[in-house]
Amino acid sequence: GRAMTDKPLIAITGASSGIGEATAIAFSRAGYPLLLMARRLDRMAALNLPDAVLRQVDVRDRAALAAAVADGEAAFGPVDLMFANAGVAHLADIATQPPEDWDAMIDINTKGVMNTVHAVMAGMIARRRGTLVMMSSIAGRKVYPDHTVYCGTKFFVHAVSESLREYLSAYDVRVQVISPGVIETEVLSGVKDAGTLAAYQANKAAIGGGIGPEHVADLILSTYQMPQNALVQEICITPTRQR
Ligand code: NDP
Repeated sequence: GRAMTDKPLIAITGASSGIGEATAIAFSRAGYPLLLMARRLDRMAALNLPDAVLRQVDVRDRAALAAAVADGEAAFGPVDLMFANAGVAHLADIATQPPEDWDAMIDINTKGVMNTVHAVMAGMIARRRGTLVMMSSIAGRKVYPDHTVYCGTKFFVHAVSESLREYLSAYDVRVQVISPGVIETEVLSGVKDAGTLAAYQANKAAIGGGIGPEHVADLILSTYQMPQNALVQEICITPTRQR
């Protein structure tokens, strides 16, 4: 049923760990109802957040996304913010990487992000209100030799976010793109290439480690809470020493 809160519904993909989980916690503390989506339902349930609809969703599955949005909206009203956050980072030497790992990155990080924003876009246009937050990366702004296809997927998100902003501004729908550097999450679990993982860890140690995901979450919450006619178009947050 309807929440005890009068705040609008916040939807997050990849809410089972890392930045998505931290963002769910931040919005929950601020009193928002949530639609949380990821493949690991148990991890979202363990967060034990109030006023939360949890759905097992693979962002490659458009029907599952649509069904989850319908369930969330039936409980708490229209999705006012969609955070298209789910992503994987199979960083590797491109010459030896199994092509199936490119397929997964392309399907989840690009098509999955499109599926996610598409699931709520028509509703936001009709309401003349809403916020899309799209997860890119510093690797969507600059390239690294062992990030080849990952960079491709994140540059894609940047380009699409810019085009969507051109299109959706006339409907008062906000489009924000997030480009973090090294954040302390489980994202490295996607790195199967031992050499790439060792180099990443060495660089991370050299810059003094990553930033906690709660700082990314705080930025998303605070910029979302600005007046509807104020849009922070891009957020780039990195460890100070990261280049
Ligand atoms: P985590 O690995 O901790 O979180 C990734 C999340 O994405 C998990 O909740 C995972 O849930 C979900 N996910 C992965 N594949 C799918 C799928 N097919 N369908 C639905 N959900 C999926 O890493 P982060 O929190 O770091 O990653 C979040 C985003 O931030 C990613 O897009 C990543 O590329 C980006 N990013 C991360 C940076 C970092 O340094 N950590 C830097 C820049 C960008 P589950 O497995 O349960 O489905």
